[in-house]
Amino acid sequence: MADNHHKVLIIGSGPAGLTAAIYAARADLKPVVFEGMQPGGQLTTTNEVENYPGFVDGITGPELMDVLRKQAQRFGAETYFKEVTKADLSKRPFTISVGDEVHTSDSVIIATGASAKYMDAKGIEEYKGYGVSACATCDAFFYRGLKVLVIGGGDTAMEEAHHLTKFAKEVVVVHRRDEFRASKIMEDRVRNTPNVSLELSYTLKEVLGLEENGQKRVTGAVLESTKDGSTKEVSCDGIFMGIGHKPNTDIFKGQLDMNEVGYLTVKDPLTATNIEGVFAAGDVSDDSYRQAITAAGSGCKAALDAERWLIEQE
Ligand code: NDP
Repeated sequence: MADNHHKVLIIGSGPAGLTAAIYAARADLKPVVFEGMQPGGQLTTTNEVENYPGFVDGITGPELMDVLRKQAQRFGAETYFKEVTKADLSKRPFTISVGDEVHTSDSVIIATGASAKYMDAKGIEEYKGYGVSACATCDAFFYRGLKVLVIGGGDTAMEEAHHLTKFAKEVVVVHRRDEFRASKIMEDRVRNTPNVSLELSYTLKEVLGLEENGQKRVTGAVLESTKDGSTKEVSCDGIFMGIGHKPNTDIFKGQLDMNEVGYLTVKDPLTATNIEGVFAAGDVSDDSYRQAITAAGSGCKAALDAERWLIEQE
């Protein structure tokens, strides 16, 4: 990076951030992308992406993100494996910090996405990474021949459960209601898989586990009925969270307008936030569609909005 001042600084590198980078680079704005702790974003934890237009046979999440990154770089976008730690959007140019490294930018596109949510049941924190996971694609392999629980009734839970059936001996989907929120096709796929069973109207109350030779592992769970509050213990070797996502907006609190659960609010159908020159794209400002293609589309809009706004400032 020749200089620490930029015209467009993009935070986040999922489909929204990288599409914004392609458009901003092609507009000769020399965008800089700070990719964050999960370069490529949530799609890098998805196995097969079958609904992104243009790929007849599907494409894996990591491959898709790799292609988008290379496409952005081809037009001059610079991408860095850096995690933004602080953003001061109170005056222009905006100040974006990566630890002690300080950057300024005339405009900022926020595409920090969302992260998987964990429940706050007893034992979750203790066994996170030792049997409690929110990424079946990353961890399913470790449960070959074992029994796992998947918590949730939406598409994420169905996708996790379906992926796990290829490895685990038994997959139990635990959902707090007796109706799924997931799309019918994904629900049916899970329901029709022989090694899946359902625990409906139950929620996870406690993760059970032990420590053996200095290594912690999950041994079971206490489930609580959402109908009558009764509890029961089930044995299992792993517990996967599929209960939705939380937007990554902590560093913007008190500066940017957000809804009650932290999603950035934008002036629909544009991508402008309440601060002129700061734009938002992708899941960070979308709690409704949350698709790779909608994120990419809003990344395109954010870059065009930033370009127009920069021209107006000249
Ligand atoms: P959703 O909000 O759709 O579903 C979350 C699920 O978790 C719900 O069933 C909810 O229960 C349950 N839940 C939430 N909090 C708790 C809790 N504290 N305890 C127990 N259960 C809880 O989130 P998803 O991440 O599944 O999906 C979000 C969006 O992303 C959707 O639009 C979905 O279609 C999309 N998506 C699409 C995919 C695809 O097409 N391949 C894959 C993954 C997601 P309840 O139903 O009772 O509220």
